[in-house]
Amino acid sequence: MQPKTHTPDEAKRLLKEGNARYVAGESYIFSDYPKKPTSLKDPNPFACILSCSDSRVPPQIIFDRAVGDLFIIRVAGALSDEVILASIQFAVRVLGVSLIVSLGHTRCGAVKAAMDGVQDDYLAPLTSRIQEPLALAKSSLAPGADLWLEAVKANAAHAARQLSAESSPFAPRLHTGHLKVQPALYDLETGRVHFFDL
Ligand SMILES: [Zn+2]
Repeated sequence: MQPKTHTPDEAKRLLKEGNARYVAGESYIFSDYPKKPTSLKDPNPFACILSCSDSRVPPQIIFDRAVGDLFIIRVAGALSDEVILASIQFAVRVLGVSLIVSLGHTRCGAVKAAMDGVQDDYLAPLTSRIQEPLALAKSSLAPGADLWLEAVKANAAHAARQLSAESSPFAPRLHTGHLKVQPALYDLETGRVHFFDL
């Protein structure tokens, strides 16, 4: 395995820079950016992105990162369960990523389904997991604020809090500063990713 050189802050900076290129229409991945990872022998990503499956939110493109740069997990609602947690642990423990991004997005259908109380059998496991952050968003909703947007942010923050809790397997690395968990919101209209605090 190659030595990891990116600190959590450096990883975040690379994502911000890539998103700025994407927003400006100056993405490298469509021009002269390396099409292949620098090492084909081992994967060497610097960040893990937990994203929604929504077809409008492709992390590789919105962060303008090359093949091999990102360890991406996509599931409707960007939720985390034990299988997904195992994948994230692999990214952290084995691949050595220093940043986990919990990425929500505007107009998320999974969050809307939870808001609308959709109870279809196949969707229930998904929407039920969004009820807790949805309730939090409702309880703290400012006058005139958009519940859908606030629920999306609360959902991303909820996943980030779960991943950074004291009981989380990542707690030791978080304490030493070798790892950060970062909630973020992707705005479909502008293409911008907003990183926000828990
Ligand atoms: Zn979504």
